[in-house]
Amino acid sequence: MNKMTVKDVDLKGKKVIVRVDFNVPQDDNLNITDDNRIRAALPTIQYILKQQPKKLILMSHLGRPEGQVVESMRLTPIATRLEKLLGQKVLMLDDCVGDKVKNAIEKSSETVVMLENLRFYKEETKNNPDFCKKLADLAEIYVNDAFGTAHRAHASTEGIAKCIKAVAGFLLEKEITYLSKATGNPQKPYVVILGGAKVSDKIMLVENLMNKADTLLIGGGMAYTFLKALGQNIGNSILEKDKLDVAKNIIEKAKQKNVKLLFPVDHLVVKAIDQPETKKVVKDIEDGWLALDVGPETVKQFKDVLAGAKTIVWNGPVGMFEKEEYASGTKAIAECLASLKGATTIIGGGDSAAAVAEFKLEDKMSHISTGGGASLEYLEGKELPGITALADKK
Ligand code: AMP
Repeated sequence: MNKMTVKDVDLKGKKVIVRVDFNVPQDDNLNITDDNRIRAALPTIQYILKQQPKKLILMSHLGRPEGQVVESMRLTPIATRLEKLLGQKVLMLDDCVGDKVKNAIEKSSETVVMLENLRFYKEETKNNPDFCKKLADLAEIYVNDAFGTAHRAHASTEGIAKCIKAVAGFLLEKEITYLSKATGNPQKPYVVILGGAKVSDKIMLVENLMNKADTLLIGGGMAYTFLKALGQNIGNSILEKDKLDVAKNIIEKAKQKNVKLLFPVDHLVVKAIDQPETKKVVKDIEDGWLALDVGPETVKQFKDVLAGAKTIVWNGPVGMFEKEEYASGTKAIAECLASLKGATTIIGGGDSAAAVAEFKLEDKMSHISTGGGASLEYLEGKELPGITALADKK
């Protein structure tokens, strides 16, 4: 990675401000129901603490308070959980900028300080220069460890990086290291599995990954617009009529670039989503039926390709996996990736990450991205403002 990280700067005696992603799910009583995002930031936090900084100031957003104070979106429960995980006191402040905050940080005997929800200020998402300066005023070094918001040019993810020395934390570094394998010089054969509901969400992704990949395996709802474009009957399966030309164009481009495209050759079809009892596997979809998962022959063909791959990127489930009845294709793909030895397996955030978690195969993948939108944009070849803004390695 060509960006500086926490390891490239001297943190001893410095005030260090770290953007983390503590946007964790909570129940109605504000109990944290999944603290993975807090745990994921611990390596960076613990490393910084070992360097004996003067202060370690943490900042995050939580939910969408839209520029005003929302009591239920305070970060207090998160600071409490962090205290437990760190085994160290965390000073929780009730604001994130201003003299009161500055003084409280200076006067506190605690090293670790948690600022209040950044999005209580509309200036945060607007990347307001004054607000950026106020955040930067709190510290001497800025660390970004929040990949999930790196595609947004917000004050705490981009603007602040222009005011003080800005480096990456370990989580961000890992994301870039793996995702850049997919867009840079991937070890070949390089296979991309694409699924999900719509072609329209994945056009730029397909176009960009086609420049590097040897084979694209296309499943899920998006496959049916392609199959329709190829002249097949798709019954009532999900179709984006206005994307038929785009699909044809992608098929044509793949031919020119010598990229193999594989589509489902059999399908799990039902009469209606809420009639799983009607499900059957077919090669040709008849009128009145809709496909909600790939069939076993497709799984076999996909697995044969995956078995020889050295780099694999997976973005989007190959069926409606949220319903158990339509999950077997997605489960088989996840299990196949988990079983591969010697291949780098990169799971894009969002639904494919959710699928891998559901099947409890998380520790069997090389990398599962923590950012749905951010990993999609990275793999589309876009620059992420939160990464661009960090200092380059010398
Ligand atoms: P995306 O957010 O674009 O990755 O889409 C994920 C969604 O696609 C999931 O909610 C799946 O249920 C849905 N999906 C996958 N396969 C199909 C299918 N054959 N028909 C309809 N929806 C599907």
